[in-house]
Amino acid sequence: RVLVGNLIGEGHVNYVLMYNMLTGIRIAVSRTQAKIKRPLTDDDFTARHKFSFDIIGNELTPSAKYDFKFKDYAPWVFRELREDNFHLDPADYLLSLTAQYILSELGSPGKSGSFFYFSRDYRFIIKTIRHAEHKFLRSILKRYYAHVRANPHTLLSRFYGLHRVKLPRGNKIHFVIMNNLFPAHKDIHESYDLKGSTVGRLYPEDRARENPRAVLKDLNWIERGKELAFGPEKRALLTEQLRRDAEFLKELRVMDYSLLVGIHNMQRGNRDNVRRNTLRVFSPPDVHVPPQPHAHWHIHRRRAATSATSEQPHVVRRAMHDASLNANASLKSVGDGLLPEEDTGDRQHLLFSQDEGGLRATDEQNEPLDTVYYLGVIDILTPYGVVKRFEHLWKGMSADRHKISPVPPAEYASRFFAFMRAIMRGGEGGARFKAE
Ligand code: ATP
Ligand code: CA
Ligand code: CA
Repeated sequence: RVLVGNLIGEGHVNYVLMYNMLTGIRIAVSRTQAKIKRPLTDDDFTARHKFSFDIIGNELTPSAKYDFKFKDYAPWVFRELREDNFHLDPADYLLSLTAQYILSELGSPGKSGSFFYFSRDYRFIIKTIRHAEHKFLRSILKRYYAHVRANPHTLLSRFYGLHRVKLPRGNKIHFVIMNNLFPAHKDIHESYDLKGSTVGRLYPEDRARENPRAVLKDLNWIERGKELAFGPEKRALLTEQLRRDAEFLKELRVMDYSLLVGIHNMQRGNRDNVRRNTLRVFSPPDVHVPPQPHAHWHIHRRRAATSATSEQPHVVRRAMHDASLNANASLKSVGDGLLPEEDTGDRQHLLFSQDEGGLRATDEQNEPLDTVYYLGVIDILTPYGVVKRFEHLWKGMSADRHKISPVPPAEYASRFFAFMRAIMRGGEGGARFKAE
């Protein structure tokens, strides 16, 4: 799987889905944002807000195609996570996602069938998830929230929103919005998805050489003799956070998660400009941005118990204003305006993304080296359910049962943690995790 997406223009099979997702996010998030913040209650964790979009009264949007329903889950919880824990600027969040209706879709979806979409500035990822994953996230939301509160520097995926789009034919698409671990402005020269499992965890090396953007796996890491080059200070911090995160995942009884590692080599710098160039290449000459569906906004405002305008804080008004200005502007500059000049804000608050949006390698005296790592634990919503147990038995017949990917949660977590420790500088290396 490569880390570059195709821009979704009009006529793309998922254009309507994108339109619906972004419209839903824009309206739902600004509705919550417009209200005065209050302490969370227990009900906030199970809350869901329904929105019904239709095109009545808006002659600019073709009918039927854009009729859809939207659900916003636990909006107050995610608002608090975004603002207080993940340090996102509320206006920025909306602008990045919805100022222009542009997303790029990641090439081939994995075996889970999920689709990935990048926000136009590459800061956010929308991942479609299965209903089971959606239900699971809702069921653990309170514990996730508590973990993030207690561990402000957690390496776990940062979830910013959980939503559902329902199309007129009844298809329901669940999705989360999360942080893109990789920065928009730095080339990632190598990336690895590491589980601590070695069975089937090799990306063919010949193909890897042809495609430097491929995401490699545990065996590639081991065979290339890689290490996470951190001095004692960062090693200790990273180890402790990984220990706590793995412990939490064990308690949730999930498995199959990975440590995603992106490596930026400062000597090589950004001369490849991989993502930027690709975006330009794929950028259609005239990207169409749908008109802002003011009609919807008014409908929902009327239904709302409180008037949105009277309480709308300054930031959100600004975001909404900018959003409509940008949407109406000529989009000739889309290719150029896609990426902001600097990474804005949130990463510098977080211990493990404080150096250039990542974590810089250090020597044994804790002095910086010329590598920046981008690290995070992803794909954390797979409970050890019936399917996995079955897969475990089946796969276990042909390979060492302790080296394969689907092992029970406690074993998965301890192996995961042990592997990550082993591959840090000074560790024993990952070789002992190989199946004979
Ligand atoms: P599967 O269940 O088959 O492993 P999935 O559809 O659940 O796949 P993930 O494992 O979540 O997908 O992610 C697949 C790949 O997408 C990762 O290996 C990584 O390359 C990329 N990716 C996922 N989440 C992020 C993120 N937050 N930041 C950057 N890249 C990501
Ligand atoms: Ca995965
Ligand atoms: Ca998965």
